[in-house]
Amino acid sequence: MAALHDWLAQHADTLDQSASLGDEVMPALAAHGCFRAGVPLALGGAAGEYGDVRDAILGIAEVARHSVTAAFVYWSQRSFVEYLLQSSNTALRDRLLPALLDGSLAGATGLSNAMKFLSGMEALSVQGSANGDGWLLNGKLAWITNLRPQRFVAAAAVAPVDGSTPLVAMFASDDVGVQRSDNLALIALRGSNTAAVRLEHVAAGADYVIAAQAPAWLARVRPAFLGMQCGMSIGLAAAALDKAAQVAAAARGQLGEQIAAAQQALSALTAQLLEGVADGRFVTAAPALFKLRIALAELVQQALMLELQAKGGHAYLTQEEDGFARRWRESAFIPVITPSITQLQAALAKHAAAAA
Ligand SMILES: Cc1cc2nc3c(=O)[nH]c(=O)nc-3n(C[C@H](O)[C@H](O)[C@H](O)COP(=O)(O)OP(=O)(O)OC[C@H]3O[C@@H](n4cnc5c(N)ncnc54)[C@H](O)[C@@H]3O)c2cc1C
Repeated sequence: MAALHDWLAQHADTLDQSASLGDEVMPALAAHGCFRAGVPLALGGAAGEYGDVRDAILGIAEVARHSVTAAFVYWSQRSFVEYLLQSSNTALRDRLLPALLDGSLAGATGLSNAMKFLSGMEALSVQGSANGDGWLLNGKLAWITNLRPQRFVAAAAVAPVDGSTPLVAMFASDDVGVQRSDNLALIALRGSNTAAVRLEHVAAGADYVIAAQAPAWLARVRPAFLGMQCGMSIGLAAAALDKAAQVAAAARGQLGEQIAAAQQALSALTAQLLEGVADGRFVTAAPALFKLRIALAELVQQALMLELQAKGGHAYLTQEEDGFARRWRESAFIPVITPSITQLQAALAKHAAAAA
């Protein structure tokens, strides 16, 4: 793992500011077995501390310490793997899993729209009309990451035009009717292969269906989906706090107590997240998970602020740059990842109103 961390540390700024290494992230992560974390051994997984998705959460956090771009690619790929693990379509799982785990096939997740739909915030942007034993897909996914130009598969929630229950289906980049845009011009995370996709009469047979009943399935997958996302916050906050502590200890030391308190808060939130993901409570108690995601996002902002304050004016000197500027940009992504903080706050308000 040290070799991966060295590679990430060396290339983190390039991954953030250019697409030039976009092709190399997946192989680098796959070479260290990242996508196998938390996957059952019988399905090609790697033995880990917990043997479930908690290993992937911690793996994503570890990568995010060095590069949020790489952690987001990890999240996309590992989320797609999780969808297959939680799908009753075992034939699809068995067909795709080996290439996803060894990183030769990219998996992307276009489910932000679906998560918003689940919280009653947005209509689904992909429609399906019945076509034999499957569907014809039409629509657009405005943002989707890990769309490796060579080949990718992606998951999307689909609203049947006849008004029946939405489903979750996949499509592949070489299916007729799939159009990938150029990479979006982003202010950060540019090596993440993030683009838009348009679907025009894309045939998705029954063998492409991940879940026939999207709402129940999405609620079940959400703890893993959100938990792994929280991994990015955990890693980024930890990296900023480590730097802040280093600088504060060597300098005026004034912020030491605040930094230590933030580190303790991070450990406590991480422990709560891992516990809740493990015991399944977040499947029904979604608000508790939403609150954790908000608290971790706030902690990322606090950690970056402490790093800045510990460094003072030196944080502004390019010759002393040690990743702070990149972490500052990366941190701007944390509140807008689906479900964004505003989406979660709206969902919590709705929940509180319903309870009252
Ligand atoms: C680099 C990058 C990569 C991404 N990769 C992926 C990916 O791989 N897969 C994926 O699925 N998505 C991806 N996304 C999309 C991402 O998840 C969205 O940014 C996220 O859903 C936030 O949505 P939003 O832009 O609508 O902002 P929000 O935070 O939801 O909303 C912004 C503002 O609009 C308001 N608002 C939102 N909804 C409504 C509404 N219904 N009515 C009225 N007001 C509303 C909010 O209150 C807020 O003020 C990516 C985004 C980025 C930036």
